[in-house]
Amino acid sequence: MTDRNDILFERARAVIPGGVNSPVRAFKAVGGTPRFIQRAQGAYFWDANDKRYIDYIGSWGPMILGHGHPAVVEAVQKAVLEGFSYGAPTEREIELAEAILALVPSMEMVRLVSSGTEAAMSALRLARGATGRKSIVKFEGCYHGHADALLVKAGSGLATFGNPTSAGVPPEVVQHTIVLEYNNLQQLEEAFALHGKDIACLMIEAIAGNMNFVRATPEFARRCRELCTQHGALLVFDEVMTGFRVGLHGAQGVLGIKPDLTVLGKVIGGGMPLAAFGGPRAIMEQLAPLGPVYQAGTLSGNPVATACGLATLKEIAKPGFYEALGKKTRSLVDGLKAAAAAEGQPFNADSEGGMFGFFLMKDLPQNYATVMTTDNAKFNALFHGLLDRGVYIAPALYEAGFVSAAHSDEDIAATIEAARQIFRTP
Ligand code: PMP
Repeated sequence: MTDRNDILFERARAVIPGGVNSPVRAFKAVGGTPRFIQRAQGAYFWDANDKRYIDYIGSWGPMILGHGHPAVVEAVQKAVLEGFSYGAPTEREIELAEAILALVPSMEMVRLVSSGTEAAMSALRLARGATGRKSIVKFEGCYHGHADALLVKAGSGLATFGNPTSAGVPPEVVQHTIVLEYNNLQQLEEAFALHGKDIACLMIEAIAGNMNFVRATPEFARRCRELCTQHGALLVFDEVMTGFRVGLHGAQGVLGIKPDLTVLGKVIGGGMPLAAFGGPRAIMEQLAPLGPVYQAGTLSGNPVATACGLATLKEIAKPGFYEALGKKTRSLVDGLKAAAAAEGQPFNADSEGGMFGFFLMKDLPQNYATVMTTDNAKFNALFHGLLDRGVYIAPALYEAGFVSAAHSDEDIAATIEAARQIFRTP
């Protein structure tokens, strides 16, 4: 065995379940050996064999500037020398909070945490605490981290309560979680008609990135807002993926909708463990130490992570950043579409800012069930074909992709050419 990825995978599997610390990294869906990454720079990373890949996952979203951006590296190096963690407040936490609030007008206050899971879980507790209600609405195909109440798949009937998607989650824990089909207005209306007075919040990825890339239709998003307002429920936008990724003001900026609570992660930490949730002052002041909703974290607002996040936000707030990123991402998507069309392959794709999705089908899907009709074997062949050619996309057909500011026109052209060769293969 001379492939160092194989060697490392075998070693990893002996000591780490499945050899990975987060399941999708294991290549279970696509088969083959996961690439063990040894370093990254700009738009590229290199595996254990020193093979270079154009990176379209960017740590699943955070690396919007590309890897090793000089201003971010400098900020992190400086912060490290000042200490790793204090467990006491710092000025940098205020600076990051102020920077986030300045860019997300729906938020008046924010609390920093260390992962998207923690942020979504805390937002949910806050919504329940602030409203005094138990039920929550979520959508099939939206992922909000792995908190028990959010690991739910749709129940058997329309607008019924869901079933756990993981062992270890007792049905009682998800008995207040209503799971609906994404973009299904009728189910949405029915859920609020039946349960409206009990619903604490509706949580949604308004541009979903966990069933590949699927937009809520403007009408659907608007109706979510209206029904929440009408029934006294909180509208929670999970923008862990879309925040500072689809645009400077997130999915709420793209759709022009003001949620009550916003959940952020990924880009705000620039690759360090950092996430956040926030909203109106009156709701946020329900949190401990001011209010009765408990939430805490040893590493929350970590000084190195906040330095990394602040330096990242400073770069993305520069004029023209998202115009350039959006244009680049569209050129990838358009090029892939043209290559597929030229080879007579059913294909479609969409993007917003630096986030994209492509589908091996003619029409853009509107919900999870449609995404999952994708021909697995065909996706896997495309994935491995690209990987062989030095292009790394997400190793599962239900994941979105990410372009960074470091991707060059040449990188995009090389990616389209690699895909063209694969589309051409019978
Ligand atoms: N919400 C969304 C929309 C996400 O995409 C993710 C992670 N992919 C999470 C929450 C959970 O974040 P984390 O992995 O940092 O816990």
